[in-house]
Amino acid sequence: MLEVLTFPDSRLRVKAEKVTVFDGELARLAEAMMRAMYDNSGMGLAAPQVGEAIQMVVTDFNAPDHNPATRCPKAWVNPEIRERTGEMTTEEGCLSLPGFRALVARAESVTVVYQTLEGESRQENLTGLDAVCLQHEIDHLSGKLFIDHLPPVRREMIKKKLTRQARSA
Ligand SMILES: [Zn+2]
Repeated sequence: MLEVLTFPDSRLRVKAEKVTVFDGELARLAEAMMRAMYDNSGMGLAAPQVGEAIQMVVTDFNAPDHNPATRCPKAWVNPEIRERTGEMTTEEGCLSLPGFRALVARAESVTVVYQTLEGESRQENLTGLDAVCLQHEIDHLSGKLFIDHLPPVRREMIKKKLTRQARSA
């Protein structure tokens, strides 16, 4: 069972390495990340959040329904956003920042190139919450958290609370 790291763990701030080997180990990690995502009722999880500094995220855009029958897990290896259009503000949360939610503005539509677990190149267009979710997860690959998008005063307040929370845990 993978442990999801929480702020202020420094491993959440590393720049993840590109994946070059597409083997069983990668597939097993993706599977374990999906399990951790479902166990924590998340919609996405990035490898650095479980202490693996590689460019891989998993998502399930149907996950908010919490219905195992409609699960749609997907792994995105070396994902990269090529195009962003529009703007959309939604309330975001993060498994690494438990208990906090905040409004974040992101692109409404994105074109993303990525590789499958087998190393095949793909391109996809996403809009709305799916696009927001993937942008949030891709941010994790460069050590960025959703609080980094907030105004400094609000960001510092959340950081202080989280650090205090972590110390008393
Ligand atoms: Zn997150």
